[in-house]
Order: sequence, then structure tokens, then C-alpha cells
Amino acid sequence: MACCSKKWIHIASGLTRLATDTTGLTRTKAEAMARLAICSNCTQVTRMSWGKYIAWLAKHGIKRITDLKKLESLPPLPVAKPDAHGPRLCRLCKCCLVIKARSADAFCPLDKWPDK
Ligand code: SF4
Repeated sequence: MACCSKKWIHIASGLTRLATDTTGLTRTKAEAMARLAICSNCTQVTRMSWGKYIAWLAKHGIKRITDLKKLESLPPLPVAKPDAHGPRLCRLCKCCLVIKARSADAFCPLDKWPDK
């Protein structure tokens, strides 16, 4: 099963939580922080600007947000250059990690996250 078969729903869910959760360290926020700490030490994390990310997606045939469920079948995102800027992304699922980590239903494609 794909880690993000409902990827665009996960993204919307994560964005909503980011936008609405302004109270201290909630359980969801703590879980997200635990997930991101694991991602920070993972060899599959990369960085690229949103512009390069969108261009990479377009190069691989992803032109609409509803196509995001196909992302996992694409080759891994490039390894970040030392001076790379932009959001942290997972090379395998191609998700923006700060958003994905807040989504309750998302999971790590390598099963590294402590929660399921
Ligand atoms: S989601 Fe999993 S595979 Fe992707 S960067 Fe995080 S720990 Fe690594």
C-alpha cells in the first residue's frame, strides 16, 4: 500500500492542522516533532525550492495536484546540494515533511516513524 494513497487529503489535513493548532505542545504536535526528528537523520530527506520541486514534478508528468497519488511510483527526488534551500522533502514519497508529519494518516515509506 502506498504511504500517501490519499496524499492530497493528507496535505490538506496537515495544512489545516498547521494553520489551526496554535496551542502549546499537543499530542499531534509532539508526534509530528518526533516524526520530523527521525526524518532529520534519514538519508532520504532532501531539500529543493518549491519552484524546482514543481518543475521536477512536471518533468515526471505530474501536472495537477490530483496526480500526487502517483508520486511514489516516480524515481526518488534528487539528493540535496550542500547549499540547497527550500522545504524538506522525502525523496521516496515526495512529500513536504513538515506538512506530512502533521497528517494523522500519513506514514513513513520505510516504516521509521514510531506511530502508525
Ligand atoms: S518519511 Fe521516512 S523515508 Fe521519508 S525522510 Fe522521513 S524517515 Fe526518511
